[in-house]
Amino acid sequence: MKTISIIVPCFNEEETINIYYDAMTKLKEETNKFKLEYWFVDDGSKDRTYSILKDLQRDHSDEVHFISFSRNFGKEAALYAGLNEVTGDYTAVMDVDLQDPPEVLPQMFDLLEAKDSEYDCVGTARMDRDGENKIISFFSEGFYKVINKMSQTKIIPGARDYRLMTRQMVEAIKSMTEYNRFSKGIFSWVGFKTKYLPYKNRERSAGTTSWNFWKLFKYAITGIVDFSEGPLMFATWMGTIFSITSIVAIIAIIIRKFVNPLSSVNGWASLVSIILLIGGIQLLSIGILGEYIGKIFLEVKKRPIYIVKDKK
Ligand code: UDP
Ligand code: MG
Repeated sequence: MKTISIIVPCFNEEETINIYYDAMTKLKEETNKFKLEYWFVDDGSKDRTYSILKDLQRDHSDEVHFISFSRNFGKEAALYAGLNEVTGDYTAVMDVDLQDPPEVLPQMFDLLEAKDSEYDCVGTARMDRDGENKIISFFSEGFYKVINKMSQTKIIPGARDYRLMTRQMVEAIKSMTEYNRFSKGIFSWVGFKTKYLPYKNRERSAGTTSWNFWKLFKYAITGIVDFSEGPLMFATWMGTIFSITSIVAIIAIIIRKFVNPLSSVNGWASLVSIILLIGGIQLLSIGILGEYIGKIFLEVKKRPIYIVKDKK
């Protein structure tokens, strides 16, 4: 029987872990097609997550493992930590709040196991955005449009992290040791053939989401800066346009001086607005440079992506 390793990031999830584990156990018994190996990652939770995971591991030491971080390093770091530990034939990534439906897992498994299967990974992607905050939907859709225009790495709109992948793909992702991690981009960047199953939005089993608008916004900027040099071109293009415009203007002024030497001095307001516009664009361009330099700074420091406090 093949083994599926499941990576489950948990941040303040005391209410959901046991619900999740029970649902998965039920699924495993019903399908009886694969063995499971769990890698729960306690991402520096402030509630009882750690002790719940410890108990779970003690009671089911044949299949449950956990890693506990020294502080909150973020879901991306938790996924990476899990990838470094898994040993199964296939590896799945799953949220603990049951928003990633367990019953899809056997379907994913069958697709990968099928004779002559052409897929290396089976993922899930949302078909609609029912039940999501309208403002967040608007910005999410905008984000996917922008990143897919600017980046060579294509990201499927609404793709979730929930997926099952082969050992080979896991090794490929592990080889990407960058500090600024954006999984949606990484999954796509490594290539391999991925099949997306339709996914309908569902509510958390318990607890609350740890995302808010501002966190999502910063995450979106990370995604763009990590997988596209597009914004850097902005300064080059604006610089080119303004240089050409100013050369044309200078020529026009010189000609006017010859044609009509008494042309009067006016246009103070337009002058000020042009200076402001150019100043604004310069600052924006410096800001974009700063975003990239900030990422490079973190990358060259080679800090560890996570720090483990306890592991079993
Ligand atoms: N998570 C994590 N570290 C964080 C934030 C979230 O490990 O800093 C985990 C969380 O416990 C959950 C998954 O990532 O298993 C998805 O988080 P959440 O349900 O809060 O996000 P949403 O489903 O609302 O996008
Ligand atoms: Mg969730």
